[in-house]
Amino acid sequence: MKAWLTDYTTFRLGGACRELVTVSDAPAAAEIVRNWQAAGIPWRVMGGGSNLLVADAGIPEAVLRMISDRPDCRWEQGLICVTAGTALDALAQFAAEEGVAGLGFASGIPGTVGGGICGNAGAFGAALGDVLERVEVLTRAGEVQVMSRQQLQFGYRGSSLADTGEVVTRAWFRVMPGDRARRLAEREEILSARRAKHPDWRVQPTAGSFFKNLPPEIAGGPRCAAGRLLEQAGVKQMREGGAYVFEKHANMVIAGSGATARDVARLAARMAAAVKEKFGFKLEPEVRFWGPVANN
Ligand SMILES: Cc1cc2nc3c(=O)[nH]c(=O)nc-3n(C[C@H](O)[C@H](O)[C@H](O)COP(=O)(O)OP(=O)(O)OC[C@H]3O[C@@H](n4cnc5c(N)ncnc54)[C@H](O)[C@@H]3O)c2cc1C
Repeated sequence: MKAWLTDYTTFRLGGACRELVTVSDAPAAAEIVRNWQAAGIPWRVMGGGSNLLVADAGIPEAVLRMISDRPDCRWEQGLICVTAGTALDALAQFAAEEGVAGLGFASGIPGTVGGGICGNAGAFGAALGDVLERVEVLTRAGEVQVMSRQQLQFGYRGSSLADTGEVVTRAWFRVMPGDRARRLAEREEILSARRAKHPDWRVQPTAGSFFKNLPPEIAGGPRCAAGRLLEQAGVKQMREGGAYVFEKHANMVIAGSGATARDVARLAARMAAAVKEKFGFKLEPEVRFWGPVANN
């Protein structure tokens, strides 16, 4: 049965998909994938929908939504093992409570572990690919495979999963010994900084930073924040239909009342054009577009 992706993305935008099935474990996911493959049904995978802009006209594919209400994090031979549908923030919380270091940066990042691995989610110069040891994936044919970090070819906000469409079902992270009180304090600090700087997506529909930061000018140096360039290019007052730029962060777009995915895409195109004109840099979206977002 058709489902409206508006109900499953943090932008709260997007039309229908052919069918949507929510699963939380690998066997259930494998069964669905094998059925779809056998029937020749095209499909995509999503997690929390916090990095997606779905076309107003919807998408022709079915969607496997890999998410679970209850976090499932545990120790396995010195590694943290977590199911892909677990909220990324719950993994960060588990690590802090266990007093181990390496996952603190993920505190407060919305979405799931699986979505985070696909996009190599990160903050403060760290990313999931730095601490990931291996993953269990379902291939497009529904077969279970274990892949190492190297096989996933992590890069800035990306991995090979975005191209292969394989489904992460479980992941193992190598963390470092730490001090519980310090880790919990770090987590609180990060959460409070996020509350101060970022919109609450439950209230103001958004997908976080719309554009990727720019590559470092010197190898190994820091990336240039897209938000800073956008701010200097004067985008903060821009709006398009119901979509507007978040007042505290020029790289975040809010889908306000009545906004469509097309409004968001048009606004983003104007923001990128302003940066291109002022600085000559081409911004690349960090948000993933599903379907013909701009032309419907
Ligand atoms: C307020 C706000 C703040 C944010 N801050 C940050 C931040 O600091 N750093 C950051 O990196 N991101 C940030 N984001 C963006 C987003 O939260 C992350 O990209 C997140 O990791 C996406 O996870 P998801 O489960 O929502 O993925 P989705 O949006 O559902 O999907 C994103 C991609 O992952 C793929 N995918 C999803 N699940 C799986 C799976 N199980 N296996 C394989 N592929 C999968 C999808 O096919 C899609 O290509 C923010 C978003 C918001 C709304």
